[in-house]
Amino acid sequence: TTAAPIAQDPIKPSVNVEYTKLFINGQFVDSTSGKTFPTLDPRTGEVIAHVAEGDVEDINRAVVAARNAFDEGPWPKMSAYERSKVLFRIADLIEKHNDEVATLETWDSGKLYQQVATIEIPMIVRILRYYAGWADKIHGLTVPADGPYHVQTLHEPIGVVGQIIPWNFPLLMFAWKIGPALACGNTVVLKTAEQTPLSALYVSKLLQEAGLPEGVLNVISGFGPTAGAALCSHMDVDKLAFTGSTDTGKTIMSLASNSNLKPVTLELGGKSPFIVCEDADVDQAVELAHFALFFNQGQCCCAGSRTYVHESIYDEFVEKAKARALKRTVGDPFESGNEQGPQISSEQFEKVLKYIRSGIESGATLETGGNRLGTRGYYIKPTVFSNVEDDMLIATDEIFGPVQSILKFKDLDEVIRRANATKYGLAAGVFTKNIDTANTFMRALRVGTIWINCFDTFDAAIPFGGYKMSGQGREKGEYSLKQYLQVKAVVTSL
Ligand code: NAD
Repeated sequence: TTAAPIAQDPIKPSVNVEYTKLFINGQFVDSTSGKTFPTLDPRTGEVIAHVAEGDVEDINRAVVAARNAFDEGPWPKMSAYERSKVLFRIADLIEKHNDEVATLETWDSGKLYQQVATIEIPMIVRILRYYAGWADKIHGLTVPADGPYHVQTLHEPIGVVGQIIPWNFPLLMFAWKIGPALACGNTVVLKTAEQTPLSALYVSKLLQEAGLPEGVLNVISGFGPTAGAALCSHMDVDKLAFTGSTDTGKTIMSLASNSNLKPVTLELGGKSPFIVCEDADVDQAVELAHFALFFNQGQCCCAGSRTYVHESIYDEFVEKAKARALKRTVGDPFESGNEQGPQISSEQFEKVLKYIRSGIESGATLETGGNRLGTRGYYIKPTVFSNVEDDMLIATDEIFGPVQSILKFKDLDEVIRRANATKYGLAAGVFTKNIDTANTFMRALRVGTIWINCFDTFDAAIPFGGYKMSGQGREKGEYSLKQYLQVKAVVTSL
């Protein structure tokens, strides 16, 4: 593993931080309290900028703006084609400002610049265009009913939508959330994660340029228990959409049900199995399993964080997985060629190291890694454990870091049972050449997404979401639209 880039001075980002205020009713404004909070560079822990700290009052202001925009403004009433044109323009502007957006995102989150600029922003643009394309294709049905009646359904926007997003894919989550909500004609109050407020505030400026009417999308930076909770409890918010941890998902549902029973969609944590069958090409399987876990510093809700390998190839797989992890280049996320940057924050860094210690204490074999890299920032050595047992914390909990746990299995029924024995059900990966085996897994695994001989393949049209405690509802694809629409039945006597 290369430690060299970390010892040097971090690369200076080529962008100024201009937008640090809340975006309410089409304007950048200070928080009511005047308070700010620092957002930090994960490469060093140093302050990048002080950002307005939205609180209960600011959520109230933003909800009033969104309500006015919904009730009085042009957005829900304008032709769907006009709405779609605004969304297309937002996508065009993000595409045009790829470099500034990607630079801010990397600086604030430690994500690889190359990955953000060449994979995530194109995907963000694609998603916004996908939903722009849906805006004028949303319509109800004519329903056959008994008796002399003409029955039709109208699909209407829900109203004011509250959205809360995490720090691991700040702008991608922003796009997943706002795309379908806006295409359906809703207005939005979105709270960014406290660790990563910058990219969404920058994009707020682009929304204005694109001609989004004021109040349609309001962006609040602030903390979960204050601004986030206020949004969830608000009596004038008609729907919530959240991505983050399962524990916070529970809090959000109870806040929603204890206020106005607003419907909630949740995209939560996971402990996804990646299953390597005995017929697999071991080299290919090692590479894909490595990607499935280490992508984005291991900070993915769908990370393949339980690598199950058939006993006949287990030892060879472990040797090669260790060698691959040792080759992984870790360093400044602005430097192209690095495969891994720092973890998002000191809290996450400490949490991951604690899980690594628990893996060692519980008797798993530490093959490589196991500690920090360099002396500053939140870099962790790519870590591989073998001889992991199902009941060890590293096999049950969402670590959200670069820690691969490799487990051994003997037969199909056994691994299916073990793979399903978790409170989560977000995703799974299966590596096999046998179509019958693939089909068996396809039916038996209780997960929202199963990747067969691939992993982390995302597309605007593919629905994403979880079984069990990994969430409810689906994002992306046509499915997402349903969560942002009301259905009105109209019955006319003939
Ligand atoms: P979190 O769930 O606490 O935070 C996600 C978002 O929820 C943030 O915007 C936060 O401000 C907001 N939030 C927190 N408490 C809230 C509350 N009481 N009411 C309303 N909103 C609230 O996640 P975290 O603390 O940043 O990370 C902790 C763990 O969550 C991670 O280690 C990881 O396991 C998991 N996580 C999962 C995802 C995912 O994509 N599923 C993303 C980030 C984190």
